[in-house]
Amino acid sequence: MSETLFSKIIRREIPADIVYEDADVVAFRDINPQAPRHVLFVPRRPVATLNDLGDADATLIGRLVLAATAYAKAEGFAEAGYRCVINCNGDGGQTVYHLHLHLLGGRPMHWPPG
Ligand code: IMP
Repeated sequence: MSETLFSKIIRREIPADIVYEDADVVAFRDINPQAPRHVLFVPRRPVATLNDLGDADATLIGRLVLAATAYAKAEGFAEAGYRCVINCNGDGGQTVYHLHLHLLGGRPMHWPPG
């Protein structure tokens, strides 16, 4: 896959408000937040889309989700609630082709999402 700006953020070549990182995952605030709390959880390894994950990536996608839920708990908005979203390809609304999980919180969410 061709490199995206998220790889540059992970390597700290371009600025971002990084709020969490571990061996597999980096998380930073979305530059165009859609909720009071909007953080992107990104695997360090550049996987383009959900479609590119296989059985060998079960732990990686689990770590992404667990990092997001741990962050919501640590930041005190887990009990109120939040939403996790992974957009996939064009119809899914994906614009950056480096897999990322949106963690959205701090306000009531609506359904259907649109
Ligand atoms: P997608 O539409 O699911 O691919 O989400 C891409 C997200 O990346 C959008 O919510 C953008 O606002 C966000 N984004 C794009 N560029 C940057 C950046 O440089 N820093 C932080 N977030 C970004």
